[in-house]
Amino acid sequence: MDILYTNTRDASEKVTASRAILNGLAKNGGLYVPVSIPKLNITVEALAEMTYQETAYEVMSRFLTDFTEEELKHCINSAYDSKFDTEEIAPLKKADQAYYLELFHGATIAFKDMALSILPHLLITAARKNHVKNDIVILTATSGDTGKAALAGFADVKGTKIIVFYPKNGVSPIQEKQMVTQKGENTYVVGINGNFDQAQTGVKQMFSDPELAKEMEAAGYQFSSANSINIGRLVPQIVYYVYAYAKMYANGAIGKDEAINVVVPTGNFGNILAAFYAKNMGIPIHKLICASNENKVLYDFFQTGTYDKNREFMLTSSPSMDILISSNLERLIYRIAGDDAKKNASFMGELAKEGKYTLTPGMREQLDSFYGNYTSEAETAAVIKEIYEKTGYVLDTHTAVAAEVYKKYKAETKDTAKTVIASTASPFKFTRSVMNAIDEKYDAMSDFELVDELSKIANVKVPKAIEEIRNAKVLHDTVCEVEDMPKTVKTILKIQ
Ligand SMILES: *Cc1c(COP(=O)(O)O)cnc(C)c1O
Repeated sequence: MDILYTNTRDASEKVTASRAILNGLAKNGGLYVPVSIPKLNITVEALAEMTYQETAYEVMSRFLTDFTEEELKHCINSAYDSKFDTEEIAPLKKADQAYYLELFHGATIAFKDMALSILPHLLITAARKNHVKNDIVILTATSGDTGKAALAGFADVKGTKIIVFYPKNGVSPIQEKQMVTQKGENTYVVGINGNFDQAQTGVKQMFSDPELAKEMEAAGYQFSSANSINIGRLVPQIVYYVYAYAKMYANGAIGKDEAINVVVPTGNFGNILAAFYAKNMGIPIHKLICASNENKVLYDFFQTGTYDKNREFMLTSSPSMDILISSNLERLIYRIAGDDAKKNASFMGELAKEGKYTLTPGMREQLDSFYGNYTSEAETAAVIKEIYEKTGYVLDTHTAVAAEVYKKYKAETKDTAKTVIASTASPFKFTRSVMNAIDEKYDAMSDFELVDELSKIANVKVPKAIEEIRNAKVLHDTVCEVEDMPKTVKTILKIQ
């Protein structure tokens, strides 16, 4: 069966998967969603035998129905190869009564690699299928990890340019160094004097600016997105939840048809939405546990049914979750509004105008598979220390938010279902915060002294991604104001 994609703000728009990936975001600001979520219909015994790549093919072929088997397998095999430092691609590690799904074994040591190592291949294939002649300009807003993963994925990919906007004072030192040292003729990195929400809103505005689109077209360019607003980011993220479930079964951690919980440290709501899609494909997931840091807009949303971004933006030790406008929540709102684009568009209109909206009781009822909670900065640091001292396993600051929220969930509900925690980054990416959490004495060390010290205490080799930037030259130093983002793009593309 062919799966088409519709626009969350315009029911009349229906496009193929490849077109949805090419467009990234719909012209009116809506997101593409599959008109229905396909069922996986594969036994757990069969899934348990599959490699990551085979699982990826089974999941993705059900969504990307206008890609041929050969095209899709080529994309998968080009993405999930020796760029990952383990053949398993996404290993499961048991520590302290939970199963950590390590999603940080790719080129940039954050979970963004899981989707961004395949997105360039999907996009190039989609461009070919749709006879696109323009060069594709990937516009990306990053809270720290998407930027580097997208840069690594698109560097020197023919027919593309990539421009990344990041909050100049809102990412970790290692994250910034990874981005500003990026090589590749077609890569551009720009710091903005603003936060992630402003970067993301600025990028979304450029997508829906008809004047800019005309100027781009005249110069032989068109935009696409590497953010999780692109359905081509979301679909590859479903794979690892299916894979984790199958591995739990294969390892004997769960029996046949036994449901698991999934805990996801959340920012833009992309990763947890992928878990929700996995559940809808038929994977037995009991609770989807949404973990937030002090930017707890999602916790409040699940508590009250009101989404309210009118609050102070906090800079935390888990910067990739410092987000108040969780873009992918729109896909869930659309769904619980009964796939009603008009109703969804009116909520999103309220969000743009008032900064908030409130669900109807009928919509709230459909959120019962979600549980939300959050952690303070002190709790995040404490759980890193606690788990390290208990088990020797070192969590990064984002995964730590999830670990602490899982503790709160267990204490509150007494639920004993086996639980997978999405481990979204290597601790080496957030070395200073992680090491300070373990012992304040580390504060005196330089960033790279901390890297070596972490390697020692965790008994883990320094990842290649970190060795690469140790002595790398800074190649990007552009900084701009939020309102100058379009001007900066035009200067980069030489279209003014
Ligand atoms: C991006 C990111 C998150 C948040 O993921 P969303 O899909 O935006 O919810 C969490 N942790 C890390 C390390 C990230 O890079």
